[in-house]
Amino acid sequence: MTSHTAGGAAVPFFAPDLFEEDREVLLDLVRRTGTVAGQRFILGALTAELEGALRATVDGAEVVTCSSGTSGLTLILTAMGVGPGDEVVVPAYGCAPLGNTVANLGATPVFADIDPVTMVVDPAEVERAISPRTRAVMPAHMFSVMADMPRMREIARRHGVRLVEDSAVAQGGVLDGRPAGTWGEAGVFSFVQVKTFGTAGEGGAVVTHDAELACAVRALRSHGQEGPRFVHQRVGFNSRFDELQAAFQLHRLPGLPARLERRARIADYYTERFAPLAERGVVPPPPGRDGRCYYVYSVLAEERDALKEHLAAHGVASHVYYPLPLPHQPAFARFVPPGRAWPHARAAGRRQLALPINPHLTDAQVEHVADAVCAFAVERRAA
Ligand SMILES: *Cc1c(COP(=O)(O)O)cnc(C)c1O
Repeated sequence: MTSHTAGGAAVPFFAPDLFEEDREVLLDLVRRTGTVAGQRFILGALTAELEGALRATVDGAEVVTCSSGTSGLTLILTAMGVGPGDEVVVPAYGCAPLGNTVANLGATPVFADIDPVTMVVDPAEVERAISPRTRAVMPAHMFSVMADMPRMREIARRHGVRLVEDSAVAQGGVLDGRPAGTWGEAGVFSFVQVKTFGTAGEGGAVVTHDAELACAVRALRSHGQEGPRFVHQRVGFNSRFDELQAAFQLHRLPGLPARLERRARIADYYTERFAPLAERGVVPPPPGRDGRCYYVYSVLAEERDALKEHLAAHGVASHVYYPLPLPHQPAFARFVPPGRAWPHARAAGRRQLALPINPHLTDAQVEHVADAVCAFAVERRAA
């Protein structure tokens, strides 16, 4: 824990004891995986069992595990035939894989601006970005808010383009009764440790109701082999899944709903405490549970950097995500048409601040975070 003096116990952003309770289990799984008959360390029986268990959480959609959320997106885009000459519409604000996965296939990411409050991509902007070369649209759920998937489906259908759902941060979220990951033709989950179903390493999954797409992704994740070994129908990748991670995720899966509920309760509390702060320059996310998954709890603060400093002085760790929107990144400069601007993405990059919401936080820590944020807003107003 970091040391500090002012205002109670330090509040870490990520749980420093993330897998402490699972330590003995994990050590035992290392031994069991290492001594299983045939020494199958990847894509074995436990991977298949995890895929089956996850299937039950996404309305029976097919689940194909892979080496990361990013590689899941790459496998989907590849299976859809995205390549040179194609455009894929992605959010202007978000993580690098949204641009990288498209660019690495030789296609062009086309950036669409976001909603100024929820920070998910704006459907009207997605529609405006569609051209005759658009092959797919790839909205992403952001922080705690799922993208407007009903409208994305409608837009994709009307324009005859594919719909990829970047649900890497929303595993366990449900919108209008339909789980995150199942709104697109295919979606992804990420098991990197910070995500809601994070593991002790890398991993991810592709989710789809399209059997043909699932079959293609299965082949692509393992060098393009569909049937017999060493026969390659497609140019594939190495994006396989570890048996050890499968075993650990099978152990962690039953606890996921309780951890998600704890996150959501922390969020409910914050949002209730912060509702009056909107006119004092600190805007919480909209309240509620539908279409929400509390991976990260982000406020928008006019004086974001001062708030971050104030929280640090009170022992509260906070994070700025994505200060530089994707079209402003040097890596993506060549994809940006001259004169184009993304004002809402720009504003989010200046105002977004994430507060601790990991399920290991105690009630006292959560109250301390809320008190510190409220005190900042009141002091600033008085100043
Ligand atoms: C984390 C994340 C990814 C990538 O997942 P990895 O498993 O880290 O590759 C993709 N998209 C979004 C929106 C993410 O937050």
